[in-house]
Amino acid sequence: MKEAELRRALIDTALAAQREKLNRGASGNLSVRCGDGFLVTPSGMSATEQRADDVVWMDMGGNVRGTRKPSSEWRFHRDLYVARPEFGAVLHAHATFATTLACLGRDIPPFHYMIAAAGGKTIRCAPYATFGTQALSDHALAAMEGRKACLLANHGLLVAESSLDRALALAIEVESLCEQYCLALQIGTPNLLPDAEMDVVLGKFKTYGQAT
Ligand code: 13P
Ligand code: ZN
Repeated sequence: MKEAELRRALIDTALAAQREKLNRGASGNLSVRCGDGFLVTPSGMSATEQRADDVVWMDMGGNVRGTRKPSSEWRFHRDLYVARPEFGAVLHAHATFATTLACLGRDIPPFHYMIAAAGGKTIRCAPYATFGTQALSDHALAAMEGRKACLLANHGLLVAESSLDRALALAIEVESLCEQYCLALQIGTPNLLPDAEMDVVLGKFKTYGQAT
């Protein structure tokens, strides 16, 4: 896709994330890889007020092209693109159920087989660090090792995928899992799937759906 199309797709995906209640107001941010750098949402603007020209292009050195200030979380977007060539889009949200669990500061265990959709047997929770800092990015990258999603303690959710559509779909899936886990915790102690079963599921996911 050309840069102009990517700018439009970025805003459309940010709007969809808001419709899906992953984000409200100016919380959260979104980016897509573009040429030698990436396009990222502007800081402190809600999806509904963003126009294509508000989107900021940034190179991997943190140099920007654009009239707006980039998302305060540009560091974890940039660091994920540099460290993980398979990622084409990064989505950060303060989705209600993911954030609720993130406030407990614990990894989400394999209470449901779909935990494997995030790439492993758990969804990790990165330790707390102040928003927009290099420390937060460092914690997030460690929690994302071998994974496509993690929680950020006392903050929210982070997802990375090959494309904007896939990042949005995975964020919706993880938020739905978090809702289910919150509900299960309210009425009892969820049964966890054994390690060996999660190995089976992770193996099946390699060819699940339309994957070849
Ligand atoms: P930005 O508006 O700067 O992207 O910040 C929102 C946010 O979620 C910070 O963690
Ligand atoms: Zn945030």
